[in-house]
Amino acid sequence: MCREATLRSCEHSPACPSASAADHDAARVVSRHPMQGWSLLCNGVVVFEDTGELLPDRQTVAPHRPLCRLVNAA
Ligand SMILES: [Zn+2]
Repeated sequence: MCREATLRSCEHSPACPSASAADHDAARVVSRHPMQGWSLLCNGVVVFEDTGELLPDRQTVAPHRPLCRLVNAA
């Protein structure tokens, strides 16, 4: 990944949740890479196929099931 996704501003309506929001993974997908198993969300969060996440501040979120997710705000 070589793009500074955090510099991108959201143009969606309603606006996507920020990367620090509890529901950050509800942001729109702006770049999908199915062959590599990850997608980039509008707020700069990278979501992996196994539901793991990489936040713009390089924090990682371990894989979790979509139906039972509790994201801890650090
Ligand atoms: Zn957006």
